[in-house]
Amino acid sequence: MPTFHSWQPALFAISFGVLAACGDASSDLNDQEPRIDPLMLDFAARPSYLPDHFIALTFDDVPDWNHTARVLDVLNEKNVTATFFINTSNWSNVPTEAPMQELIRRMAREGHELGNHTARHPHLGALSAADIEHEIATVERLTAQILGPAAPPLNLVRAPYGEPYRDHVPGFPTPEFEKVASVVARHGVHIGWAIDAFDYTCPDAACVTNNVMQRVDAGAYGIVLMHGVYAATVDALPSLIDTLRDRGFVLGTVEDAVEARYGASSRELVGR
Ligand SMILES: [Zn+2]
Repeated sequence: MPTFHSWQPALFAISFGVLAACGDASSDLNDQEPRIDPLMLDFAARPSYLPDHFIALTFDDVPDWNHTARVLDVLNEKNVTATFFINTSNWSNVPTEAPMQELIRRMAREGHELGNHTARHPHLGALSAADIEHEIATVERLTAQILGPAAPPLNLVRAPYGEPYRDHVPGFPTPEFEKVASVVARHGVHIGWAIDAFDYTCPDAACVTNNVMQRVDAGAYGIVLMHGVYAATVDALPSLIDTLRDRGFVLGTVEDAVEARYGASSRELVGR
């Protein structure tokens, strides 16, 4: 389980109300025990809090003009609920493109979960805290405008490239992680993945399917990272869903995983 040193307790008290009382910013860092667990589902290939037959499909970088609608068609046909991590100025320009706004409405209308993938898909570690806040808040604001009063609060967040949440290495937490996580914690639960489809490297459907099933065959389960903007992904999706079900996997959602990890929804955890 990832942990923090608590040398910025005030920043994390927003998400972890009890922590302000246990932090002492003046203490010697070398004497600090890790004690803060940020709200996040990490990148473990076998998440201990999920049953080993659980899969949740996620689609990043949406919406786009060519493939996102087809992803929705397949999910509808296969009766799968997925999670879409939205950029508002990446493969399309949501603020000015009405059909892209309609795709976001369609995702919500068809029961899918919406997550925040930042407005422009930057490397967040390179930005100031204020610019990170702007990237996340922009998607929240636009989505709320598009979906109206019933808009979900977008309390699922995935940083572009998973950065810097993937840096669970000696030396963690890095300064970049402290900076990014302190902003993200005000908005949502950060969502990693167990299985990367590497679909952005794939020329065809077989490549996407093989990338996923190789990891499944090696024992991985949980959240699957794909993108809703590639033909190979869309082409792989129907048979991939069938294959996973044939293997006994149950297709759940990211919120199911959050509930399993924390015993509460992302909305309850973030407290909005
Ligand atoms: Zn992305």
